[in-house]
Amino acid sequence: MKITQLETIFVRPRWLFLKMHTDEGIIGLGEPLVEGRAQTVAAAVHEIGRYLIGQDPRKIEHHWQAIYRGQFYRGGPVLSSALSGIEQAMWDITGKWLGQPVYNLLGGPTRDRIRMYGWLDDSSYGDYVEAGKVSMKSGFTAFKLALPGAVDIVDTRRTTDEIVDHFARFREALGPDVDVGYDFHGRVSPAMAVRLAQALEPYHPFFIEEPVLPENVDALVTVARSTSIPIATGERLFTKWGFREVLEKQAAVIMQPDLSHAGGILEVKKIAAMAECYYAAVAPHCPLGPIALAACIQLDACTPNFLAQEHFTDGTGYIKEPFRIVEGYMQLPTGPGLGIELDDEAIAGKIYDGSWETPRLWHKDGSVADW
Ligand SMILES: [Mg+2]
Repeated sequence: MKITQLETIFVRPRWLFLKMHTDEGIIGLGEPLVEGRAQTVAAAVHEIGRYLIGQDPRKIEHHWQAIYRGQFYRGGPVLSSALSGIEQAMWDITGKWLGQPVYNLLGGPTRDRIRMYGWLDDSSYGDYVEAGKVSMKSGFTAFKLALPGAVDIVDTRRTTDEIVDHFARFREALGPDVDVGYDFHGRVSPAMAVRLAQALEPYHPFFIEEPVLPENVDALVTVARSTSIPIATGERLFTKWGFREVLEKQAAVIMQPDLSHAGGILEVKKIAAMAECYYAAVAPHCPLGPIALAACIQLDACTPNFLAQEHFTDGTGYIKEPFRIVEGYMQLPTGPGLGIELDDEAIAGKIYDGSWETPRLWHKDGSVADW
């Protein structure tokens, strides 16, 4: 079998889908994307195509090594995300060729169903709480909120109170049977993160995500040692090498690799195994589209230290049969490969030029805040 074409498709709201065509007619799906840089990643995919076209897509590990290590410059968000989507598509082809879901090629299922957590619209406190109550009624037991806005390196008592209140109101409305994580989004300094974690402890957060930015692991250690709240990080870390220091310093206990950024399905499986040595969990990051989510589900199914899965879509309007989420749990997919089929007719109405820009956040004085 040979790869004949890499077809990239920009799909609203901000996604990039990859169709990997083969000479045997099997088409593999992948989602190579950095949010806000879809056009750049698409260009990287086609550059990698200079190596990949004509190759057998079933030599997944070998091609991963050739794409990652076979060039002098490696890693980073753009190249790792291009590689991730390509890797997903090679697994989809291999699974379809064998007639098996990918999880059956990676050790088989380790669970019967997959716990999902919902992402809620943070446009207002009221929407948050009402959206949470509605989701809870349909069986969801895990949620995640994000900080309401920018935070100065050392900020006021009022800002601290607002951030804590934002979480506490939601937490208390939903009761003790649900888990609620708090995503600091890398917007907070270590000093403020320590202070906020202390104030949030009585509300028992599921975890605090990216309490500080990912470049300085020692800053994350400072926060982790200051609190009993589990620390999560990883959506901006790439490949096993990106997770090594976080694990070795035990700077976080929940790894959140993104299967469209970190190197794909098998690379995240390896990251999960590294995490297992430190008794750490894996909760894949996924605010992306249905192909990325399908890749996550395959990984979650066969990974023993999986915790919960983020999701943004159930695939309606993008895939022929939307994901089956029952009582807050994704049912194990049974189809071959990634287990989904794109609805090309529906997607035709959502194609655009890929020019979506991540919003920018500003401090009160007009200086740049971390988004
Ligand atoms: Mg996050």
